[in-house]
Amino acid sequence: MGEKLLVLPGDGIGPEVVDVALKVIQKVANTRGVEIETDEALIGGIAIDETGDPLPPETLEKARNSDAILLGAVGGPKWDTTDPGARRPEEGLLGIRKGLGLFANLRPVTSYESLIKASPLRADIAQGIDLVVVRELTGGIYFGERGRRNGGNEAFDTCAYSKEEVERVVRAAFDMAQGRRKKLHSIDKANVLETSRLWREVVLEVAPDYPDVTLEHQLVDNAAMQLIRYPSQYDVLVTENLFGDILSDEAAMLTGSIGMLPSASLAESANPGRRLGLYEPVHGSAPDIAGTGKANPLATVLSCAMMFRYSFAMEDAAAQIDAAVDAVLDMGLRTPDIAPGADSGQQYTPAGTAEMGEALLKALS
Ligand code: NAD
Repeated sequence: MGEKLLVLPGDGIGPEVVDVALKVIQKVANTRGVEIETDEALIGGIAIDETGDPLPPETLEKARNSDAILLGAVGGPKWDTTDPGARRPEEGLLGIRKGLGLFANLRPVTSYESLIKASPLRADIAQGIDLVVVRELTGGIYFGERGRRNGGNEAFDTCAYSKEEVERVVRAAFDMAQGRRKKLHSIDKANVLETSRLWREVVLEVAPDYPDVTLEHQLVDNAAMQLIRYPSQYDVLVTENLFGDILSDEAAMLTGSIGMLPSASLAESANPGRRLGLYEPVHGSAPDIAGTGKANPLATVLSCAMMFRYSFAMEDAAAQIDAAVDAVLDMGLRTPDIAPGADSGQQYTPAGTAEMGEALLKALS
């Protein structure tokens, strides 16, 4: 039986980068004799235009019946409004994450030798970065009780976690570390916060199930510094929702190329290689370059590698896609977002979305 993939192209450059990614997926599947059955649905601004709803019920239903979901991006100036009653494209994203119970958000950050100059860090620090931030996505302060009191002059937000919520994301992170360099940093603020003390307790309870993984606890303020000071020390980092939101954006900037960053959001599963997951580039719909054929498709393509790894249990296919991305970069192909500056003196071959796609297909042959 084949895999069922739901494709949500969305808005702006979403359909352009998804188009390349789909060709890559089919190529990798065909060479292995694997069948991937694709279906398409609406999300975001285009869904508002066509149905009035950023996440039509049919989209969520199709997503629930899929093995994986590939999303381009949502949003754009057309739907930016200050009208509090208007529907917004981002509601589609939040709705699908919640509706599918996608509790673990993964953002890998890898430094490519050929793009090292794009990093805001010194080359000797930016070299050798190969880490994944695992962020808890459906609990914590973003979902706790909140409000105003004292006539509106005082506000509060509540952070709460249950043991179960912590355990499932911590196990997902340990599973991931086991398949990588076997190092896990658990990030918390256990010197101050009670939720962090519970977090640490659970991590310590789970750790004996993964004796081959080296575990280190780090306080979040220290982690924020260490990510800049010595990022190559990390393999997998796991943390709660708020800390993860901030640290994953910080980590995203280590390499300096937004068009290169993939992500996955995963649901619960007894089999770590076969989780229902939503795969999408970290970047948005880039309305400034939509329709120009300049969008970098590599973040979306790298998200597909994650799909093969975490939803289809096909590590060899994932590694093949990762290697194809390395190959096109080593060939010197560059979309404008990753092109070296005019004063760098570096040689490269300018490419658009389509040329990058063709080169990837060749590299996969
Ligand atoms: P953005 O990521 O869309 O763009 C930021 C800058 O990076 C732009 O200059 C853009 O041209 C460039 N860029 C982004 N992706 C690129 C790619 N693949 N190749 C080349 N250049 C690329 O962020 P923004 O401009 O803040 O937001 C634009 C819209 O996207 C907004 O409506 C925002 O709400 C939405 N958004 C959606 C998501 C998502 O769907 N997950 C994430 C972030 C922003």
